[in-house]
Amino acid sequence: MADEISKAQSARPGGETIFGKIIRKEIPAKIIYEDEECVAFHDISPQAPTHFLVVPKKPIAQLSDADPSDKALLGHLIIVGRKCATDLGLSRGYRLVLNEGPDGGQSVYHIHLHVLGGRQMGWPPG
Ligand code: 5GP
Repeated sequence: MADEISKAQSARPGGETIFGKIIRKEIPAKIIYEDEECVAFHDISPQAPTHFLVVPKKPIAQLSDADPSDKALLGHLIIVGRKCATDLGLSRGYRLVLNEGPDGGQSVYHIHLHVLGGRQMGWPPG
């Protein structure tokens, strides 16, 4: 956990990210779903029995950079997250998380939605 926080505190927006490479299939990922606008794939360091990411192909660095014209795209990420969660059998529920900036715990500056499930989630989050 401390490692995740230090990663988030030192990560910087801008430039190419690992997610761009996954979208372009330059590096492998366990892809769950793909369409013209986004890709969903399993997180490399899962924080729950099921933990995947929904990433737009458009390289928006973070939520604070999104434009009002990105409204439909951002909604699409949620709908795709719901579809994948259903397909993966998360019938008891799941959690959506979007980390924004250093204090939000963001470590990769290509906006993405986390979907976590398969266990009881705690509140408040860490
Ligand atoms: P953030 O901290 O920015 O909200 O989330 C970034 C997520 O990306 C983390 O949960 C991290 O485990 C995941 N991640 C980082 N690098 C890779 C990678 O190369 N492949 C995959 N599948 N996930 C990654």
